[in-house]
Amino acid sequence: MAEVIALRDIHKTFRVGSEKVHALQGVSLTVARGEFVAVMGPSGSGKSTLMHIIGLLDRPSSGTYHLEGEDVSDLDRRRQAAIRNQRIGFVFQQFSLLPRTTVLDNVLLPTVYGRDGSAAARAREVLDQVGLGDRVRHRSNQLSGGQVQRVAIARALVMRPSLILADEPTGNLDSKTSRDILELLQAINGKGATLVLITHEAAIAQAARRVVRLHDGQIVEEMTP
Ligand code: ADP
Ligand code: MG
Repeated sequence: MAEVIALRDIHKTFRVGSEKVHALQGVSLTVARGEFVAVMGPSGSGKSTLMHIIGLLDRPSSGTYHLEGEDVSDLDRRRQAAIRNQRIGFVFQQFSLLPRTTVLDNVLLPTVYGRDGSAAARAREVLDQVGLGDRVRHRSNQLSGGQVQRVAIARALVMRPSLILADEPTGNLDSKTSRDILELLQAINGKGATLVLITHEAAIAQAARRVVRLHDGQIVEEMTP
């Protein structure tokens, strides 16, 4: 299956009191295995909503979603959670580590469902991969912002997901650290993981092979830089 993500005519409507918010209005998007796609667009254009649907954190109001060939448009929460855990790694803008918890334990978090004997070895391996092999015993409040985001990336990798979703992963970092994090994500993509990255920084988007632009819940432009 060469298509990792296949979205067809996705609509997402939120109800806020008596109001309806049309966050996505007919989005169709196909992402092939191994691609690096940047999603850009102004605030409120639907980027995070799209990411939540792709990441099975939310469901479309209508339209279909196939993930690695399987129809996941309308799964129950349990099945969504299982697929998420096994196949999708998330990196968010807000540093989402457990404070006062060691780097190693933070990375081990996704392995708690059916942890096997190889989990700790895998955690150390991905921490090496992100350049933090010498920080496993540090607590997350003893790290710099860039290091925290590296831990978040290691945690996203520990289950060896085929798809990495990153929502403004460099949003809180200085430009040098942003570049380092981007290079790390590119290296991970180079090893075969499909990468979908939301960003508002043109320099970051330029690293992607494809840029998808959202405006008012619709894809308005798709180009290869
Ligand atoms: P972006 O990430 O591009 O800034 P979002 O996807 O977060 O945009 O939001 C798209 C639109 O949907 C916005 O108008 C936002 O207010 C609305 N929205 C997002 N999430 C919710 C929610 N849970 N409930 C109601 N409205 C929402
Ligand atoms: Mg957002």
